[in-house]
Amino acid sequence: MKKPELIFIPAPGVGHVISALEFAARLLGHDPRVYITVLAIKAPFNSHLDAYTKSLVASQPRVTLIDLPHVDLPPPELLRSVEHYFTVYIESYIPHVQRVVGEIQRSRAGSGSDRSVAGFVLDFFCTSMMDVAAGFSLPSYIYLTSNAHFLGLMFHLPARHDQVGREVRLSDPDLPLPGFTNPVPVSVLPSAVLDGEAGGYAAYVKLARRFRDARGIMVNTFKELEPFAVSSFSRGSSDGPAVYAVGPVIDPKGVPDPSLDRAHWEKIREWLDEQPPSSVVFLCFGSMGRFDADQVKEIAAGIERSGHKFLWSLRPESCQEQLPDGFLERTRGRGVVCGWTPQVEVLGHAAIGGFVSHCGWNSILESLWHGVPIVTWPIYAEQQLNAFMMVKELGLAEELRLDYKGHGGCGHLVPAEEIERAVERLMGGGAAATRKKVKEMKEAARKAVKEGGSSYHSIGRLIQDFIKSIE
Ligand code: UDP
Repeated sequence: MKKPELIFIPAPGVGHVISALEFAARLLGHDPRVYITVLAIKAPFNSHLDAYTKSLVASQPRVTLIDLPHVDLPPPELLRSVEHYFTVYIESYIPHVQRVVGEIQRSRAGSGSDRSVAGFVLDFFCTSMMDVAAGFSLPSYIYLTSNAHFLGLMFHLPARHDQVGREVRLSDPDLPLPGFTNPVPVSVLPSAVLDGEAGGYAAYVKLARRFRDARGIMVNTFKELEPFAVSSFSRGSSDGPAVYAVGPVIDPKGVPDPSLDRAHWEKIREWLDEQPPSSVVFLCFGSMGRFDADQVKEIAAGIERSGHKFLWSLRPESCQEQLPDGFLERTRGRGVVCGWTPQVEVLGHAAIGGFVSHCGWNSILESLWHGVPIVTWPIYAEQQLNAFMMVKELGLAEELRLDYKGHGGCGHLVPAEEIERAVERLMGGGAAATRKKVKEMKEAARKAVKEGGSSYHSIGRLIQDFIKSIE
């Protein structure tokens, strides 16, 4: 019998590539018959990602990496909507993917090959590649680097568009999204969904429309974390895709960054080692989270007044000049301001007791994996929806903001007093119920991926489906 080979096409962004490759590693670890070929689209904004992708697959004998050629970037005016820009860029790769998959198919058709391509595994931004798969009579699967609640939004958007025919507006009433138990305020939807003019909304609807055409959707979550959403979708339906909760998929080594100063980090770790358990609050806002000078000052004042110990990843590092006069001297010994930090390692350190986070999905999974409760401060992408889900749907995080929008959005200044109160609640015992639930979720997460766990079981079912598709 031939062995199943999957063609992975991750979106060329750090969180997407690393998550997809870690998921690929889980499949390989689960079943020695599985082979994976990764088609790598050149990263448009991140020059070190291509090299890192190579290093990740180098240690995997059953993974082949094919670098797709460079294509011209879309015109810069499309950058008014990053989502629109990104989908146009990825669509321009269709002819290259067609050519490369044609070559793969020809080489697998020969009698010498023991493999047979079982399908494409596409990032959410790459659903336009489904037509290429269909051209080769191959099924497509989606690997969703976000969660099952977000999948509810994706299922809802095309149906809503067919009825209403326009973008979502801030004046619209709350939305009844599948997978949610509460009506969802429009203010926590991704900015792109509210953006009819720059093309973000149209890009989202186009991507979401293809979800129904997938044979399966693998979601980076686990059943115990989102029981209602996962069970609403995993029953499947005769005309819809099968949904598999396969997570948490996190890279235990963490995301590297060339700007990390190793020597400086070693000193910070020594400082952390000296702190009592759960005594330090960690502030970090993802790979693109940044604030203007006024907001940096309010954060500094808030954490200073809270009196708690802190580790604050503030980027870009030039922002450190915006700290209030004397802040670093006054907080010496009590807190550290740094640039890029190895976040997974930080969250796993016994001294860390809380996390002020932008609620990127990888950050949320990493904090749950280590049992560290979050205070929500979403900034961009689908982070507001993640924050809403964590606070209102699941009771697994403390609210600072749910609908803050940075990067030129409606992110009104969050004053120091509110930051101080949120840090105090998180670190001073006011969030005991959340902390307890988060600790329970840590155990559930670890159990889900172990042999016999819910996500382990889902991956087994998924591999059965790959094998069925080549029989
Ligand atoms: N990260 C890190 N150090 C930092 C900032 C981010 O290691 O200083 C990692 C973090 O651990 C996570 C990823 O970068 O794995 C960010 O992904 P997430 O989905 O949370 O947010 P995004 O950056 O995509 O908005």
